[in-house]
Amino acid sequence: MGKSMIGSAPDKIAEAAALLKAAGGRCVVLTGAGISVASGIPAFRGSQGLWDRYDPFVYAEIGSFRRQPEKSWEMLVEMLQVIEKAVPNPAHKALAELEKRGLVERIITQNVDSLHQAAGSRRVIEFHGSNRDLVCLDCAYRWAGFELSQASELPPRCPECGSILKPDVVFFGEAIPPTALEEATRAAENARLMLVVGTSANVYPAADMPKLTKRAGGRVLEINLEKTPLTGPVADLTIFRPADEVLPLLLEML
Ligand SMILES: [Zn+2]
Repeated sequence: MGKSMIGSAPDKIAEAAALLKAAGGRCVVLTGAGISVASGIPAFRGSQGLWDRYDPFVYAEIGSFRRQPEKSWEMLVEMLQVIEKAVPNPAHKALAELEKRGLVERIITQNVDSLHQAAGSRRVIEFHGSNRDLVCLDCAYRWAGFELSQASELPPRCPECGSILKPDVVFFGEAIPPTALEEATRAAENARLMLVVGTSANVYPAADMPKLTKRAGGRVLEINLEKTPLTGPVADLTIFRPADEVLPLLLEML
């Protein structure tokens, strides 16, 4: 069963390196907010700045966006300011390097900050969409590669129909894009190793991904700061250390 005692960190990292090598390139990574905290992006949960002032279940909920998009944009402007300033941290960079070396096949991320791509990862499934693009809910218009500085007015409006645009991210009350869900499910089922980084694994369907790997006979390696529902029953190995510390060390051992 799962080994989740604190143990000595170097031993655990060596064990993690062995798991990664044994996966023979068939490692799929699942990341969440925890990996981007070291880049200055606050997680939804836990009381940090932005989310103290804006309840995400109000400001990032699709029904309230449809009713009062201006209100959601108060939060979005502040969030985009944070995201646009953020740069990849050593955890993002280590994952990109693992992909380059053929040790990581895909990254499934719940983050909408594009930091994996900024670090050089190419095969990224964005489970919750991305803030890079804006979409119009009333017509098919899409603004790719949006930055706040490009907006002549805020909130930004659709040049075709005048409606207020929405970031192409999955708001509360919206479904995961079906293509992302299918690809992620297939990747998780085919993985020999699922590496879970910085996610409490309690938001579905992302939370199912490690279980799919496990059920198909794969292993699960977890790097989180605290115990999660995966720790013990699902994870074969858990390392309770920051990802921006563990992943570069892991890379050195390979
Ligand atoms: Zn429109």
